[in-house]
Amino acid sequence: MPKIAYVNGRYLPHGQAMVHVEDRGYQFADGVYEVCEVARGYLIDMTRHLNRLDRSLRELQIAWPMRRSALEVVLREVVRRNGVRNGLVYLQVTRGVARRDHVFPASATRPAMVVTAKRIDPETVARRAADGIKIITVPENRWERVDIKSVGLLANVLAKQQAKEAGAQEAWFVDPDRTVKEGGSTNAWIVDQEGKLVTRPADFGILRGITRTTLLDVAAKLGLTVEERPFSVEEAKRAREVFITSATTIVMPVVAIDGEPVANGHPGSTSLSLREAFFDIAEKTKA
Ligand code: PMP
Repeated sequence: MPKIAYVNGRYLPHGQAMVHVEDRGYQFADGVYEVCEVARGYLIDMTRHLNRLDRSLRELQIAWPMRRSALEVVLREVVRRNGVRNGLVYLQVTRGVARRDHVFPASATRPAMVVTAKRIDPETVARRAADGIKIITVPENRWERVDIKSVGLLANVLAKQQAKEAGAQEAWFVDPDRTVKEGGSTNAWIVDQEGKLVTRPADFGILRGITRTTLLDVAAKLGLTVEERPFSVEEAKRAREVFITSATTIVMPVVAIDGEPVANGHPGSTSLSLREAFFDIAEKTKA
């Protein structure tokens, strides 16, 4: 099946799917994105992803590229045309194409939109979750507005590359006070010594992950206590369990931090039961 991308009104084979050299996303990272999980033929939490898209667009004063209902059709169409039953759909909206100038272009400039989808083998992800992943920590070096899901991800790219070179799969950004912000593309959680779930408040300084939000619903359904408060790297190293969340990983157990094992070095039972319960509780939209 040829890969198909949606680019500014057209469904094109990947080889022909191009944006203009003066797209402001390309020149200034002047755009936002969303990544939505596709599981068993359903888009997961589409409403929350599009609500967050709306917030990101508002914060940057970029208009919606089309009506929300039309955008939902495009997302499902790209998933369908690529035969994705399990994987991801990626959506990017930029301020559009205009002669290079830092200030906003004329208000008539149309936002540009790209949608792609890819398959991910659920067995591979399940095996990874059964093994758990390793993470490293890096100093926080991003701008303050990481609550906006902007395509400006250079610090995240460098942190994740550093993790890869250290034999790990994620990097946590850490503040000077040693509290954990979030991963390069995931939110951070621990299960403390009393069995409480702990995750940093999402008011500022991190992205309010959709998986994070839905996992709070899952935790409530499972009767788990949650504390939204900052935790330090040292507390995470002493925790009963550590895991990360994102649309790409759902709940992914962490078994080592900076080369030190977490607990007994194996995924914990709370992380695995949250992972198990997620699909049933999340919103599902047929692709
Ligand atoms: N933090 C960052 C920096 C991210 O890039 C992501 C993934 N988009 C997340 C957290 C997790 O967000 P979500 O659960 O919406 O995928």
